[in-house]
Amino acid sequence: MALRILVTDEVDRDGVELLRAVPEFAVDEVPTLPAAELLERIDQYDAIVGRSATKVTEALLRRARRLKVVGRAGVGVDNVAMEVATELGIAVINAPAGNTVAVAELFFGSVLSLLRHLTRADVSMHDGRWERADLLGTELRGKSLGIVGLGRIGGEVSHRALAFGMDVHAYDPYVSEERFAALRVKRAPTLDALLDAAQFLTVHVPLTDETTGMIGADALRRLRAGAVVVNMARGGIVDDDALRAALDRGHIGGAVLDVYLKEPLTGEHPFRSYSNVVLLPHIGASSAEAQRNVALDACEAVRDALLNGDLSRSLNGALAGEDSATLAPALLLARRAAAVARALLAGRGATAIDSVTIKTGEDLTSSAGALLAAAAAGTLEGVVEAERLNLINARSLATARGLVLAHGEGGFAPHSRAIEVRLVAGAHSMRVGGVAALDMPPRLTRIGDFHVDVAPRGSLLVLTNHDVPGVIGRVGTALADAGVNIAEYHQARLAAGGEALAVVTIDGAPPAHVCETLTALRDVRSATVVKFGGDA
Ligand code: NAD
Repeated sequence: MALRILVTDEVDRDGVELLRAVPEFAVDEVPTLPAAELLERIDQYDAIVGRSATKVTEALLRRARRLKVVGRAGVGVDNVAMEVATELGIAVINAPAGNTVAVAELFFGSVLSLLRHLTRADVSMHDGRWERADLLGTELRGKSLGIVGLGRIGGEVSHRALAFGMDVHAYDPYVSEERFAALRVKRAPTLDALLDAAQFLTVHVPLTDETTGMIGADALRRLRAGAVVVNMARGGIVDDDALRAALDRGHIGGAVLDVYLKEPLTGEHPFRSYSNVVLLPHIGASSAEAQRNVALDACEAVRDALLNGDLSRSLNGALAGEDSATLAPALLLARRAAAVARALLAGRGATAIDSVTIKTGEDLTSSAGALLAAAAAGTLEGVVEAERLNLINARSLATARGLVLAHGEGGFAPHSRAIEVRLVAGAHSMRVGGVAALDMPPRLTRIGDFHVDVAPRGSLLVLTNHDVPGVIGRVGTALADAGVNIAEYHQARLAAGGEALAVVTIDGAPPAHVCETLTALRDVRSATVVKFGGDA
């Protein structure tokens, strides 16, 4: 019997043809259906492929007794009841790349439009005028471009900027020297250094705690007079109010915005009145080629999942299945141990990770691959967009960024259900380990050379200090004064009177500047905050 696939929401033709070409498939292509009609029909299908219009709800999934795969031709999967799909063992597949070039080309289209007043020129011509006087523009050649985030889109922008004869700089502490060298981009060691260099500033980073408001009043003030600012990444990375103030002062010469804090942009939004701001309605990915790419990508993955059971592109595949309950704590531990190691290395200024190595106890060896993926995910947390990062794609995302992923040699980790993660960044390395026993929540048991015992949850504060009397009291008082509730406090030392390490788990997020407060205390040498991201 043929495998039946429902394609809806006007998924690009080439994707549909790819599915039709498979003799084992019977493909029905329909426009976006009303929810009730879709509910009526869904139990005939083995797969459904759509874009964002069709809502794949809990009711729909429970009704769909044959359904094995949900394909989304695009990135966001907010329209899919993911937890229910996982519970029912239905794979959900999306297409995260494919729109990179569309955004990079739009960058140049819109910046050139701003510099050469194309919109005004075109409107005046259509109005029957011939006015050249105030359409004198400027060129890109010889100007300096500052790119924040040298990932997929940042990289494509850099290629094209070099072709325009621009002087290209980038700030991205998470990518290697090799990538900068291969792209022929000058590395700015800090955001401030990039701001000092840039006449054009563009952000191509995910929206994370670190990047929210990253280009605020201070950053804009630091840019050269007349600089142009571009945000095609996510609303909130460039602070709206600060940008308006800088435009009003005339310090910023112009801006291009494709993304907004709240979309769609409605009513009398202040930016609408600025003639030197190009406003676009989030069309970065709106090219026929990008739509084709994501359709092909999603349909190919749906085909492979249905025909060969290949779930390597599934967002939820690793968690579906019977072993998930026993493996979940170990996955969580691997991910969090890596996040702790990364934060501690970052505290030493080592942010570009070269390798991730995992060692497991005997009982976990058969899951070492999944645990390495979890460690890779922990290493990339907060560096790549959360919705693009999962256990299935973490290994390929990490290797695409040049990280070496490995299984440790030389025996097992010290407990049958222990995990040790080792990260190397340049001349620095950090080992963090723990135990994921079956009958209790996972514990971190090792940080560097220190033996500790805390649950990796909420937020962690890791302190190094001199092992002298009174430090614990001073830290406790300082945290209490800052309104922080301590859940667990573990102090470890290598030898009496030497170096000591304290791990403090706290409820909720720590207040801003808590590290500065703690490092100002006598005998405290360093303080690092680790805020844990998504579940493994
Ligand atoms: P990517 O993951 O390939 O690259 C992001 C880069 O940002 C990475 O190299 C990472 O190391 C870097 N980075 C992360 N945190 C950083 C920080 N604090 N400081 C400096 N660099 C940091 O992602 P991508 O595919 O290039 O996408 C970039 C952005 O573009 C995302 O926000 C994405 O949502 C957005 N996007 C927008 C559209 C649109 O329609 N306008 C379309 C696609 C993507």
